[in-house]
Amino acid sequence: MLEQKRPILRFVSGSEEPSRQVAIDYWRGHYDGNRWIWDQSVDQVVTSHGVKRKDITSIVRATSTSFDESISCIKCAAHKELTSRSDFVAKNYGDYICFECRRRRAEEVERERQEQELAIRSAKIAVLEKLSGKDIPYDYGSIGYTAAILVYAILLASDHACETGEFGDSANLHLCPTDKLSGELLKQLSDTGILQISRHTPLSAIEIKDEGGWSANPHRIRWKFARDVNGVTFPQLMTRLGAMIDSREEYLSYRQSVKALWWMLAVDDVSRFLLQAVTKYRLPDYRKGAKTEEALRYALEHYSIPQVRRHIQIVTEKAAAYSVTRDVNSRRALNTIPGNLISRVDRALSEQWTIYPLLDDWTNEEPILLTVLFNRVLGTGLPGFKTLSGTLLKELEPSPVT
Ligand SMILES: [Zn+2]
Repeated sequence: MLEQKRPILRFVSGSEEPSRQVAIDYWRGHYDGNRWIWDQSVDQVVTSHGVKRKDITSIVRATSTSFDESISCIKCAAHKELTSRSDFVAKNYGDYICFECRRRRAEEVERERQEQELAIRSAKIAVLEKLSGKDIPYDYGSIGYTAAILVYAILLASDHACETGEFGDSANLHLCPTDKLSGELLKQLSDTGILQISRHTPLSAIEIKDEGGWSANPHRIRWKFARDVNGVTFPQLMTRLGAMIDSREEYLSYRQSVKALWWMLAVDDVSRFLLQAVTKYRLPDYRKGAKTEEALRYALEHYSIPQVRRHIQIVTEKAAAYSVTRDVNSRRALNTIPGNLISRVDRALSEQWTIYPLLDDWTNEEPILLTVLFNRVLGTGLPGFKTLSGTLLKELEPSPVT
């Protein structure tokens, strides 16, 4: 560090004498011991030159550039440029990087960002090309019963799928109670070769991971059904799958399919309902543990999906009230839910309570797979949905073939 530094003035070429004198007067000072004193105050400079105070720094800077030679840019060694008097007397902390070097660095960062973005984009294009390059026909004549229900439900939910075999934005089809389950089922259909990935899939469906590899969001993928090996069109396929679903007991896997499908949708539905209820009553940090899952399954064993929703609603309401009146923390209140649900089911059973089902609009709000399961596969419609429990499912009588 230089002893007793001074502002160093460099005039801009072509600048005129009167303005040069303003700059000289502005930057001139002396030392009083170790203290730097400006020869004239800014007010004095302004008055003596007859300029406006608000213009002073712009006049000085148009005429000259001033430097502090005691401070150099750590990148290019250029001396620190001073913008005003306070810049000169200010204490300096840390390394100085000049404006030009900062600008260059920012440009570099921006260039790197763009390059990285381009690299990610081309990686996504490569992944999508690989994924969507397949066009392997599928023999729908050999489709399994459960897969037939899934495909039928999608064709029913999406006019576009039925016409062209393609569909996107699958979360909007509302296949299952939760998007997570819908996504898993789409993935299963894709694993069996029934669903393929359309080349119209947007790049946003693919995520390139930092550590390498990629993942695909099933709800952003544009899916296409595989062509039928025998050239059956999609509307024809829908009719055939409908007939297959209606044949029920002719398929050995009918009962197994119905049970598996009901349990899958039931657990998904009541889990979603419980999450929604604890959110509504502001019981925070809810995570479904093994005990909760067990309690939900126990309730479903004895009650229908909409009846279990009713049990959950009441038990959650009580937990919320408990957390308020007894001043217990919400976590403890949340922990009471699984145990209370089991006790409530036991009491309701032994005392033969009437449990009123909690219903959404059957046609417009319940997930399409649930309505297909009851309206078409079981043929019992809404009344069946209101009453069918895990126990009743075990006793499922063979349904007449229609
Ligand atoms: Zn620099």
